[in-house]
Amino acid sequence: MKQRIYLDNAATTHPKPETVYKTADKVLRAGGNAGRGGHSFSRAAAEVVFVARSQAAAFFGIGDSERLVFTANATQALNTALFGLIKPGMTVVTTAVEHNAVVRPLKALERDRGIKVLVTACDEGGRIDLPELERNCKQADIIVATHASNVSGLVFPLKQLAAIAVRYSLPFIVDAAQTAGSELIEFDKLQLAAMVCSGHKNLFGVQGCGLLAVGKNCKIAPLIFGGTGSQSESAEMPDFLPDALESGTQNAAAIATLAAGLEFIDKIGRETIWRHKIKLADYLRSELAAIIGLNIHGATADDERTNVVSCTVNNCDSGEIAWRLDDEYGIAVRPGMHCSPWAHRALGTLQTGTLRFSPGWFNTELEMEQVVEAVRKLSNYQVFK
Ligand code: PMP
Repeated sequence: MKQRIYLDNAATTHPKPETVYKTADKVLRAGGNAGRGGHSFSRAAAEVVFVARSQAAAFFGIGDSERLVFTANATQALNTALFGLIKPGMTVVTTAVEHNAVVRPLKALERDRGIKVLVTACDEGGRIDLPELERNCKQADIIVATHASNVSGLVFPLKQLAAIAVRYSLPFIVDAAQTAGSELIEFDKLQLAAMVCSGHKNLFGVQGCGLLAVGKNCKIAPLIFGGTGSQSESAEMPDFLPDALESGTQNAAAIATLAAGLEFIDKIGRETIWRHKIKLADYLRSELAAIIGLNIHGATADDERTNVVSCTVNNCDSGEIAWRLDDEYGIAVRPGMHCSPWAHRALGTLQTGTLRFSPGWFNTELEMEQVVEAVRKLSNYQVFK
């Protein structure tokens, strides 16, 4: 059978730890709807969600686990935070490398609530202009920024950004989709208003669960209204967390796998996993850079960075290379816009998109050598001319 090398861990980690598959199977077979009934099936599902919430809150340094809200994905969590905190007429500071999960809600709020959006510049490596951010903050009501771009692979200095937000008394929403599970995020210490992430990326859960951490004393208005299994006699949403922001049936199986993912991270060590991914990404970055006609974009080995390596190839469509890598070598990488046109504008790759390699914990050094060899072969066959 042809080899298959999965290098799209920035989209979703694959494979998952064995315990994650086992947990999904166990929870699905146990059945029950968490918080919907007093029988043993429902109670067991509620217990699964309760335990996962406590584990996730501890992992992110959140004092009270009720402030950890489960959503369907990072996008839903971001929409909840943005629509729930941004009032008509507000001025919002953001950055030039945001994902569409931030850009599109902000555009809708611009149109529907008359908000003003100040976009802080980033250089061609994706590095944020901190003095400009600070200037923008002087005239703003709230900040939303990614922790790391899924195109540049650059990690923003979160502590510094959070300190600026505190200095200007601005609520700060952080999109940690690319960093949660990899970078240390101490939510309460940073005094953030909200932090969001997906469970299926670096937290190793299956798809169908995201997280929204809510800051102390931060009131986020609900985006979705409906049953919560609590205060059912009332036509109003409960005003306490997590219920206020968790309408409808929870995906207990996905939530449980997120907890299994956290246990896996704790067992191996978050930093050990991080070091492995960065080592593989750095190897790719330096070896690919040596191929004539191939240009690396975004973070360098001198920057705070994730496992994302983005490149373009002279006169060549990233989609064609990705297709040939998949078809001829069984190597899965992602070409194109990665749902982040703003980041491409900052990096100068809006016309071409980028070919993105994102190695994960389960990739090996040998696989990286095979990937470089495959790209080199494609370049020899004149694909890159
Ligand atoms: N923000 C960033 C930076 C991302 O990379 C992604 C996923 N590519 C998202 C938000 C959205 O995550 P999800 O698709 O899990 O909602």
